[in-house]
Amino acid sequence: MGIRLAPLLLGVFWLLVFANIEVWKEVQASQSLHAHFFAVGQGDAILIRTRQGHAILIDGGRGDTILKKLGGALPFWKRSLDLVVATHADADHIAGLAFVFERYAVARILWTGEGKETGTFERFLSAMERSGAQGVLARERQVMYWGDRGFLEVLAPLDHMAAYEKDANEGSIVLRLETPGGSALFPGDAPKSIEQELVNSGKQLASDVLLAGHHGSKTSSSPLFVETVRPSLAVVSAGFDNPYGHPHQETIETFGRYGIGILRTDLDGDITISFSY
Ligand SMILES: [Zn+2]
Repeated sequence: MGIRLAPLLLGVFWLLVFANIEVWKEVQASQSLHAHFFAVGQGDAILIRTRQGHAILIDGGRGDTILKKLGGALPFWKRSLDLVVATHADADHIAGLAFVFERYAVARILWTGEGKETGTFERFLSAMERSGAQGVLARERQVMYWGDRGFLEVLAPLDHMAAYEKDANEGSIVLRLETPGGSALFPGDAPKSIEQELVNSGKQLASDVLLAGHHGSKTSSSPLFVETVRPSLAVVSAGFDNPYGHPHQETIETFGRYGIGILRTDLDGDITISFSY
């Protein structure tokens, strides 16, 4: 009995020490909002952790790598996400989310309501339905607050563009994060035509950090859009040596022309940007 009890007690002890460290880390983290741009190969997956500990996931990459990334970035006891955003129905954004819905309790899923005739989308949809999460259709001007002057705003899909006019990329959810400690723009795979619409709309686009649209493809990041957003940092989320040639040289040159720093998940791995306030 004694022999069996000792390791058990030791186990409890270590668990408590580990829990204390995690709690301490949480307290430390509470001075900043963190945006984790995960290196998930060719695709997007960004986790926002608010100062109060809310977890917001924007896209989930193509495979199940996202589970390992979430496990590393969240405290070990946290098995819930407050909001998951599926920017559009392409596999490099939603395939990983099906795994997330099976492993995490998700409160709300913000999505476009538009699908594709692919096995990946079918799996995404059925995992979403099984998850019990509240599905919310993205609409221009929706704002999500978490009570500390930080918020996320839906800039697109644009109201005046009917579904039949859009391909999946044109229908991408475009989000802007605003905090007193800095701002960031997440355009999904929105192409130059949508960037032009956003500039024309007069919406607040200026942001400290810009996720390069469509993984740095030359079909996004038009000079006018980049000049309007005027970030100090651009993040490219792309797979190492990907077959699409992302990020495109033209995009890199556009950022260079405006003196914008570039971080890349394909070369730099996971990237965490903290906004302190
Ligand atoms: Zn994509």
